[in-house]
Amino acid sequence: MRRLRGHHLICLRFFKGEGYSREFSENIWRILKNDRIEVIFGADDVCIKCPHLENDVCKYSDNSEENVTELDQMAYRLLEIYPDSTVSWENIREKIPEIMKVWKEFACSDCDWKNVCESNEEWKRY
Ligand code: SF4
Repeated sequence: MRRLRGHHLICLRFFKGEGYSREFSENIWRILKNDRIEVIFGADDVCIKCPHLENDVCKYSDNSEENVTELDQMAYRLLEIYPDSTVSWENIREKIPEIMKVWKEFACSDCDWKNVCESNEEWKRY
């Protein structure tokens, strides 16, 4: 079982290998191979390999902890999947088409990884 926060439930759907380091990316591939996901609030199994995590707080940029928490809250609401529940990638895959228009407007427009997703054929379909 892997532990994931809200926005990673959506963003990892479009992961193709990019990341902060090889260790970070390989960790995500392992997460994607595991189909049982415990939904959590806060730093998760992606964050633990991230160079920006300090004492369970996201230090990617000024206000990043607040920003990622907002993204998580929106992801929970859109997916109707909340912390302390268990989901599979199939559960998430089914919901992606109906939420992506709102998610792109809310989350993708200001994301530093936007150029990565813009080259993703599936992401472009929504
Ligand atoms: S940037 Fe922040 S939210 Fe993203 S993986 Fe790193 S610690 Fe987690």
